[in-house]
Amino acid sequence: MVPDESVKSEFAHIPDRIGGLVDLAYNLWWSWHPEARVLFKQINQQAWKGSLHNPVLMLRDIPLEYLQRAAQSPEYLHRYDIIMHRFETYLKSRTGWFKELYNETRPLTIAYFSAEYGLHHSLPFYAGGLGFLAGDHLKECSDLGVPMVAVGFMYSEGYLHQHVRADGWQDNITESLERDAAPIVRVPGAGGEQLVIQVPFIEPPIYTAVWKVQVGKIPLYLLDTDIDRNTPENRSISSRLYASDRDLRLRQELVLGIGGSHVLHTLGIDFSAIHLNEGHPAFAILERIRQHVDLGVPFTDAFEQVRGTTVFTTHTPVPAGTDIFPESLMDRYFGHYIPTLGIDRSTFMRLGTHPFDPSAGFNMTAFALRGSGYHNAVSRRHAEIAREMWKSLWPDRSPGDIPIDYITNGVHVPTWLDPRMEILFNKYLFPVIPHWQQEHDNQAIWELVEEIPDRELWETHVWLKSKLLNRIRERKRLKYADLQDEPINLVAEGLLLNPSVLTIGFARRFSTYKRADLIFHNPERLKKILNNPLCPVQILFAGKAHFADDEGKRILQRIYRAAQSPEYGGRIGFIEDYGEQVAQYLVHGVDVWLNNPIPPLEASGTSGMKAALNGVINLSILDGWWLEGYNGKNGWAFGSNVPPGDRTAGDAATLYDILEHQVIPLFYDLDLDGIPHGWVSMMKESIKSNAPRFSARRMVKEYVTMYYPSLLKCAISGQIPCKNAE
Ligand SMILES: *Cc1c(COP(=O)(O)O)cnc(C)c1O
Repeated sequence: MVPDESVKSEFAHIPDRIGGLVDLAYNLWWSWHPEARVLFKQINQQAWKGSLHNPVLMLRDIPLEYLQRAAQSPEYLHRYDIIMHRFETYLKSRTGWFKELYNETRPLTIAYFSAEYGLHHSLPFYAGGLGFLAGDHLKECSDLGVPMVAVGFMYSEGYLHQHVRADGWQDNITESLERDAAPIVRVPGAGGEQLVIQVPFIEPPIYTAVWKVQVGKIPLYLLDTDIDRNTPENRSISSRLYASDRDLRLRQELVLGIGGSHVLHTLGIDFSAIHLNEGHPAFAILERIRQHVDLGVPFTDAFEQVRGTTVFTTHTPVPAGTDIFPESLMDRYFGHYIPTLGIDRSTFMRLGTHPFDPSAGFNMTAFALRGSGYHNAVSRRHAEIAREMWKSLWPDRSPGDIPIDYITNGVHVPTWLDPRMEILFNKYLFPVIPHWQQEHDNQAIWELVEEIPDRELWETHVWLKSKLLNRIRERKRLKYADLQDEPINLVAEGLLLNPSVLTIGFARRFSTYKRADLIFHNPERLKKILNNPLCPVQILFAGKAHFADDEGKRILQRIYRAAQSPEYGGRIGFIEDYGEQVAQYLVHGVDVWLNNPIPPLEASGTSGMKAALNGVINLSILDGWWLEGYNGKNGWAFGSNVPPGDRTAGDAATLYDILEHQVIPLFYDLDLDGIPHGWVSMMKESIKSNAPRFSARRMVKEYVTMYYPSLLKCAISGQIPCKNAE
């Protein structure tokens, strides 16, 4: 993407010879190519750090002399030319796996809709796992050459920075995004000004401005309602993620689905199918139907056509996770819209009713399931749960025959694999399979991990662990110096951690079901484990509680207070402000990744996949992805046969048993050469069994092969209606 002229003028000071850096800065391609990040870092390391790894900010603010020095350094220019060539080749290449698979004359473009995207910490448009899944999906589609455009929100105030007070309570500190310092550009409309659209037929009117972030080959259009034309109530629609106010939440989903589709239409983007990531954007289905009806197609035919070209991925294993809007609320906005579909109000409302609870209102998941021909859950177990939850939509089918498939989530390997680990893999995989990175979803290739000498893998891991602990100290030092943070918080946030001690990581949102404090169930037993002088253990926690979730904040406080308490020996650290960057350090640098939600509430989970890829071993309850990942020798599993009811005591006891009898002895069983060979052997087993299977590459290929041919058939037949979907 070439940034528009108004943006270009901000970078007029950049020497022509390295002017391509601006294009690079505005394409997140740099974020998953370490060699491209180095190009920014080499100009000036401090400036790169100071910008929090945001090249747009860095290029804008850096003193000219550093740029000039780079532009005159033969060594820098040599590297620059290589990287820019790679970048341009990547963008131009229209080959790749997808092209070989579907060499259709009419390309199929998929429009991907999601309420959040986790792409990089310079774009804080995410709350958690759902967002990272969407971000990884886009990056992988770009790498594989899958034609896609994406739609989301530009949340301007949404980002919650976490500060934990000395009493352990989480303060919410929100930060407004400085739009012009982010790697996003304004999308121009017909008059050259930024494009603003009105959400079609929604009264009272709502307007949204449009921005764009380029993710490799994929444009992601971001909606921003914070503009003068909107009333104050509507300006705040895109302020923050997942408004808890029902009315505001409905307007968010209207803007995302209906407004988002209309943006693509206005820009003349020809897409033939849509993929809905969770139910929030499901109104996109309506808008596509309306466009057909507008051309004279009867509603039922239009509905079938759209259904045949829609994929819906559900992520929620609990009914409470579904948005349901009371009919009275729907009436407030849809009065003008419904007639444009050529149906009456009751037919419209029936599209979203839950058969068991028709009076509750318009259920977004029920609607998305009805309006999509292809639906999937995000792990095998989650599919079982989802079929059970939604079987009433298919009353004449047996439970095993409910058409909800599963495609287990995966993570984008170039994003989550640490560069140093990648160098090590390269050393042993590359000589045998030079293209291993292009085929990193091939399980056979990963057998070569066995070739890596134990010492090299162990030393790389130990290096990453030191890096994590250094990083924690440096963050804390800055806070202490700049904000006069209280000394007791230095202890609580991990200053006393020791790199030679077995380190457990637990980082995720502080939702109650994730049970961050399970390991504190028996405090005395935990203290014994941590304070064992011969084989001590330390735990690093990170995670945010939702703005309004006091229960989550109480769990956090309990952990934080334990971290401050001398009784736990300075062996617990709580890292503030969990986000993409902290996640990167943690999943690369701890020894064990702990996960203990209440089954079956973890639909999939992805952080454990990121850990496994980097040689961190999973210790997880059997739920979500781990039911598929665990093979008896690549980590530890627990909690499969605990009776329902209050399972906390049982789960905690098993957790302590596994730690005491398996994890700790294996870690401290050093050979004469100082290396825990048994542990390293499990690391290898974990990498090779999990990395290919839980990659976004495997995941996207499954979406493409399972669904996209049918979508394509439906889209290019042009037949209306198109009946090949369930
Ligand atoms: C991967 C990731 C998540 C999702 O992790 P879960 O295991 O699904 O909880 C959440 N937040 C961040 C910052 C992540 O990187």
